[in-house]
Amino acid sequence: MAALDGLPPLRDIIQRHRLDARKALGQNFLLDLNLTQKVARTAGSLEGVTVFEVGPGPGGLTRAILALGAAKVIAVERDARCLPALAEIAGHYPGRLEVIDGDALKTDFATLAPQGPVKIIANLPYNVGTQLLVNWLLPAHWPPFWQSLTLMFQKEVGQRIVAQEGDDHYGRLGVLCGWRTEARMAFDVPPQAFTPPPKVTSTVVHLTPKENPIPCAVDKLEKVTQAAFGQRRKMLRQSLKPLGGEALLLKADIDPQRRAETLSVEEFCRLANCL
Ligand code: SAM
Repeated sequence: MAALDGLPPLRDIIQRHRLDARKALGQNFLLDLNLTQKVARTAGSLEGVTVFEVGPGPGGLTRAILALGAAKVIAVERDARCLPALAEIAGHYPGRLEVIDGDALKTDFATLAPQGPVKIIANLPYNVGTQLLVNWLLPAHWPPFWQSLTLMFQKEVGQRIVAQEGDDHYGRLGVLCGWRTEARMAFDVPPQAFTPPPKVTSTVVHLTPKENPIPCAVDKLEKVTQAAFGQRRKMLRQSLKPLGGEALLLKADIDPQRRAETLSVEEFCRLANCL
């Protein structure tokens, strides 16, 4: 397919820069320009927005974001082999693409954030995706520096992010996301859309920060969900024993015989606040 931006097709770029995909870096590239545009459009209007991208790789999604009018993209890429390919894109969009050669897990995105709206869009490397999401959800101050997160995950992780009480996939991640964000799955992407294809279906998840989440200390919420879901089939009076067990549950007005997966986010916050 011809690129709308006049840059060479991604397959040519990958060949020319010898970007054979490396499993250890979670490299499954998106080469279909319709798809990269669809991911970028899921983030809503990008006019005047600074976009943080993690793992631009050969730059397919980066190009879609720039073509859709983002004021600037700041992209963090760990694989130095991709830098020359990304420099070509930067040359095509002067002043609008900054590439940071580094590890996103060690990057302090909040301090890099400029004035004005920031959105995060990424086809995440599977091995670090969940940790990055958790890092973006944990800051002490809320609302955070970002307006939205539009992220590609393995579908199973996407299901955990949007899960609510009673769902099979409900757990610590669902409580954390449900507490501080509105999260929805936007669309699935089949394995064959990627080069090379991963083993499982992927999904794009869109999260926006709640303005006023239930007041609760994040470390206490983590403590409670960790204990509760660590033994999810047990009654809470058993799994929460190290944190106060039955007495804690009664203080929070929760039946000690219930199990973790039946508790709403609001009830988990109540428990955390009684710790
Ligand atoms: N954005 C490209 C696309 O959609 O085709 C590539 C996505 S690929 C799933 C993940 C990318 O993240 C790869 O380019 C990989 O080198 C990069 N990556 C892996 N671990 C990283 C890390 N810790 N920090 C920054 N980038 C990382």
